[in-house]
Amino acid sequence: MADTGRRYRLYPTDEQAQRLVSWGHTCRWLYNTALEQRQFAWRQRKVTLGVSAQCTFLTQARKELDWVADLPAQSGQQVLRQLDQAYRNWWNPEHPAGPPTRKRKSPRLSVPFPGQAIEVRRLNRRWGVVNLPKVGEVKFRWSRPLGGTVRNAVVSFDGTAWHVGFGVHAGAKTPQAHARPDTVVGVDRGVKVALTMSDGRMWNRTFASPGQERKLARLKSKAGRQETARRKHSATTSNRARKVRAEIARSEAKIRNRRRDFVTWAANRLCAQYAVVKLERLGVKAMTATAKGTIAEPGTNVRQKAGLNRAILDKGWGMFEQALTNRTRATGTRIARVPAAFTSQRCSRCGNTDRNNRESQAMFRCGPCGHQANADVNAAINVRDAAEATSPHTGRAARDRSQPVSCQPPTQRRRHVALEAGISLL
Ligand SMILES: [Zn+2]
Repeated sequence: MADTGRRYRLYPTDEQAQRLVSWGHTCRWLYNTALEQRQFAWRQRKVTLGVSAQCTFLTQARKELDWVADLPAQSGQQVLRQLDQAYRNWWNPEHPAGPPTRKRKSPRLSVPFPGQAIEVRRLNRRWGVVNLPKVGEVKFRWSRPLGGTVRNAVVSFDGTAWHVGFGVHAGAKTPQAHARPDTVVGVDRGVKVALTMSDGRMWNRTFASPGQERKLARLKSKAGRQETARRKHSATTSNRARKVRAEIARSEAKIRNRRRDFVTWAANRLCAQYAVVKLERLGVKAMTATAKGTIAEPGTNVRQKAGLNRAILDKGWGMFEQALTNRTRATGTRIARVPAAFTSQRCSRCGNTDRNNRESQAMFRCGPCGHQANADVNAAINVRDAAEATSPHTGRAARDRSQPVSCQPPTQRRRHVALEAGISLL
């Protein structure tokens, strides 16, 4: 099994890039169609389709459709395995994932390859090549050591650049105990300040400048108008609309990269310094904070901006949790989750809970005991001192997991596509 990941900047030629793009779209189609098929099979017959059954249908589809056959068979199978894993995660009560959802059409693409299908070779100090089926050798920048044997690879395009990510078996063992046992930190994830620690530190970074946010908002509304017009005239997507979408993807990729850099940096530091990192379970707080428009200027485009902020902010919080989880494997740090209720209203000294205790966004002043502190630090201390949540998953409402959530019948067109691919059951 791969126990760690390595990601490198990939430099395909134009020709290679073109083919990888088309494979990326095929992978998304395959994922969505296979998802639909599983939902359909469950609705109609209460049958759960597994990877092997779906691989049979994939073989069928490859015979009938050229563009499916163009995708390396192993990549197709890998996509089906990913879908299966998405289902397993959903069924696993310990895992935060919700039901598998369709992958939306976007310029962001990824094509998975199992380890047997690829070969990695180092050219010189700076460059390596990965040999991919059908496209041949693709150069990548050897920016860090592989540190183990390659078990799988994902080639992806994020809107600005190509990357290859290797799942690597490094054989590294998670330490039994952290180097600094009995150290506990509480972390408050906020809207104003991204991360506030119970030790009083505050880490923040701007992921998108106001100008970038404005630009992104403008592009998004433009894309929305184009899409409305396209539907109205039942037209195909225009080149102009495609350009706008690519521009949105480029902007978002830049913001995402900055965020990723910040969260991995923060996760590395916290894991190195603390044996236990306590977090609030993600959930309602994240949503309401932005919906109220705490960082949006009141009065102007609050709703629109709230949506944008949500996209910019809460994903960073999830990403931070992921980065922490990844890092714990190297340091032996444990992540503990606590219920999110009232951490910002409770006094960390006397325990008095009152919404008036929070004087302002930044200031906390306890009515009864007079304790004064930065509101986020106070909240982080509450997180540190709170008892762990009983249910491990991250703030999801309890639900019946025996039934798939999405049960609407496939539209005629979609069913037709599934039939055409020879992968309909009925
Ligand atoms: Zn108090």
